[in-house]
Amino acid sequence: MKHPRMADALPILAATLTLLAACAAPTTAVPIGTAAMVAVETDAQRQYVIKRQISERERLHRVAWPLLAANAPLCGNDVRPAFGLTVWNLDNVADEFKPVARTDFSLSDRLSVQSVVPGSPSDAAGLRPGDEIVRIGGQTAPRGRNASQEFVDRLTATTADGPVVLEVARQQEPLTIELASAKSCDYGIVLEDGGQINAYADGSNIMVTRGMMRFVESDDELALVIAHELAHNAMGHVDSKQQNAVAGGVGGLLIDLLFAAGGYDTGGAFTDMGMDVGAVSYSVEFEQEADYVGMYFLERAGFGGATVADFWRRMAAEDPGSIDERWSHPTTPERFIMIELAKAEIEQKVQDGVPLVPNRRPE
Ligand SMILES: [Zn+2]
Repeated sequence: MKHPRMADALPILAATLTLLAACAAPTTAVPIGTAAMVAVETDAQRQYVIKRQISERERLHRVAWPLLAANAPLCGNDVRPAFGLTVWNLDNVADEFKPVARTDFSLSDRLSVQSVVPGSPSDAAGLRPGDEIVRIGGQTAPRGRNASQEFVDRLTATTADGPVVLEVARQQEPLTIELASAKSCDYGIVLEDGGQINAYADGSNIMVTRGMMRFVESDDELALVIAHELAHNAMGHVDSKQQNAVAGGVGGLLIDLLFAAGGYDTGGAFTDMGMDVGAVSYSVEFEQEADYVGMYFLERAGFGGATVADFWRRMAAEDPGSIDERWSHPTTPERFIMIELAKAEIEQKVQDGVPLVPNRRPE
């Protein structure tokens, strides 16, 4: 990553501010409203922010769910029981949002269901957003700080003996739910703030920015992005690449930067960082593999008929340099072509009724 040189930039900024103060003053009578009006709108916007974040997370989880579940057999040891729900309480909300969360979303120190993934065990068990979790496995459900994490830990720990019995309150009415689990690839799905069009994987998680959520034109395209990052994790690219980079003489700091900044993201535009040439040439191959394996993940998760290669045409329009640049990623034309070829290969396998696993290189 190139960092701006603050020492150089500051005097220029200071001079600009002085000039503005000297010659520019507003001359129109702007209606600014009262403090009370602004306070009401502040609450309205906070409410909107929470709703928006819930719906973005809900979309991300809904699209990721079939990818993580259907591909569990290809995730090696990285497999865990999953349920397809998110829970929350006041502790999961930033302080300034707590009053709105209390009044408009009925949040308290008790856990409630935030979202349920369609087709998941939670959906099948009949859980619904807003259900308050009262008891889990016969014991009082966790409350207050870290309750969400504790709840997930307890759910996961108790699934060995079959479905978990949850007692919930729906509009104050008690309800008993038997919640089963499904096998899922053991990677967290994280919605990241920020307008950058980016997604990346760190071996344990898959991060997608809100910028990417806005860029994709369909859930199929979002699935393409998640499948690519899932492939990085499932194929162990993070470790392999780290080893490669070390062998190439790249220091630890650069490697950290590379991973933190999403050096193997889906867009060439955001990879402008100093990397050893050996690591970079290897990186292109890993990117190609993540694209290729990702296409199998898509098919296995039921996104097979989707038209997704156009994603790379639009990425080219977003960042024309990516048409030629082959720095850490394949070029966008290469990626488009490979996806079309992989799709044809997979369609043939579906027709022939052979297992949907990526072709291996000859030993
Ligand atoms: Zn990648």
